[in-house]
Amino acid sequence: MSMGEWDVVVVGAGPAGSATAARLARRGHAVLLLDRAAFPRRKPCGECVNPAGVAALRRLGALDAVLAAGPAPLDGWRIAADDHAFEGRFPKGVRGLGIARDVLDTILLEHARDAGAEVRTGMKVRDLVRRSGHVAGVVTDAGEIHARIVVGADGLRSVVLRRLDLLRRGPRLRKLALTAHVRGIAGLRGRGELRARGCGCLGVAEVGGGLANVTVVASGHEMHEVGGGREAYFDAALRSYGLRSAQRVDEVLATGPFDWPVRRAVADGALLVGDAAGYFDPFTGQGIYRALRGAELAAPVIDHALRSGDVSAAALGSYERARRRAFGPGERLQHVIEAFIARPELLRWAADRFARRPALGNAIIRATGDVNPIRSLLRPSLLAQLVA
Ligand SMILES: Cc1cc2nc3c(=O)[nH]c(=O)nc-3n(C[C@H](O)[C@H](O)[C@H](O)COP(=O)(O)OP(=O)(O)OC[C@H]3O[C@@H](n4cnc5c(N)ncnc54)[C@H](O)[C@@H]3O)c2cc1C
Repeated sequence: MSMGEWDVVVVGAGPAGSATAARLARRGHAVLLLDRAAFPRRKPCGECVNPAGVAALRRLGALDAVLAAGPAPLDGWRIAADDHAFEGRFPKGVRGLGIARDVLDTILLEHARDAGAEVRTGMKVRDLVRRSGHVAGVVTDAGEIHARIVVGADGLRSVVLRRLDLLRRGPRLRKLALTAHVRGIAGLRGRGELRARGCGCLGVAEVGGGLANVTVVASGHEMHEVGGGREAYFDAALRSYGLRSAQRVDEVLATGPFDWPVRRAVADGALLVGDAAGYFDPFTGQGIYRALRGAELAAPVIDHALRSGDVSAAALGSYERARRRAFGPGERLQHVIEAFIARPELLRWAADRFARRPALGNAIIRATGDVNPIRSLLRPSLLAQLVA
């Protein structure tokens, strides 16, 4: 295949990019999947795939390979605000899973290759090629690559998003996350834990192989304390959040801020999926599901645009509308949850109330696990329990 003949170039081989590439290659399109990293590569993440994400992996045809890698089952979450805590369980027979991202993302990249996409790693995209105002390819370290459609799946600080000038504003929510794997945590028994303290929090969940992921989120005013000493800050957080037996086994990764709203996810000749298409906050652990679901929504629209010969923003617009329907309610809920996290006394009040009424805990964990629709939280019987 010459450099000029790709139907689609997908920038970024995280879950969004690999799933989009696999789906389009399977439909017979010539797809090039690029990533600046060499795989396997780690990614700062809580590494929990929620139940809807597991179902999306099954629809993609990648679940068997993921299960063969030995992930940890995830049956629900315990949320603690100081000494106020509640639990929420997924329904019987419905599970999420914990799996290290270097393992998950490599499986998905190989899945895309097996589906027929050409994969090139260690290749960084720096800019977009434009022809008559339309995006017509990408500029990489190794030169220009031309394509009829460019898919930006390049994550939080997407270069495709920035070159398209579709970022609505810079981040207002200033937080930093530190993440690493630890050994020596017992007693989770298929349950993730989120421990909130002040405006920060620590999440812990098993990821298989005797390891757990620990992610510490530091609020804006703590960021200067992290400074250059992220390992020391992380290790101190393990102790101060009560995980005294945990031993860190790898380097601490840092990322943030997480608040990147976009004006829209389509342009003439280009489309954004996954975090590149807008991101708010990692508290609810829905990002991998949204990356996989976004690929599911994007693939038929791109397929139709390529076959009809019209790759304009208008032709790709149905993807934009489908995204809003699929993710809009969840994004609004994330803002409500952030309002609670930012006010510790409110979070303690909610944790206390949810602890006394288990149906509330189950409802919120199932909604953020994308098992139940967000509107299920508005059932009158639940609201009555909340205010009673
Ligand atoms: C602290 C934290 C905890 C989280 N915890 C969870 C969780 O527990 N569960 C969950 O579901 N979600 C979680 N998320 C969200 C989740 O990590 C993301 O939503 C998910 O990774 C999005 O996938 P993606 O494919 O869009 O992007 P990514 O996974 O970020 O992949 C983007 C890829 O693009 C590549 N790339 C970037 N720039 C370029 C370039 N210029 N050229 C070429 N390649 C490039 C990168 O190397 C990378 O491989 C968390 C996020 C954070 C920050």
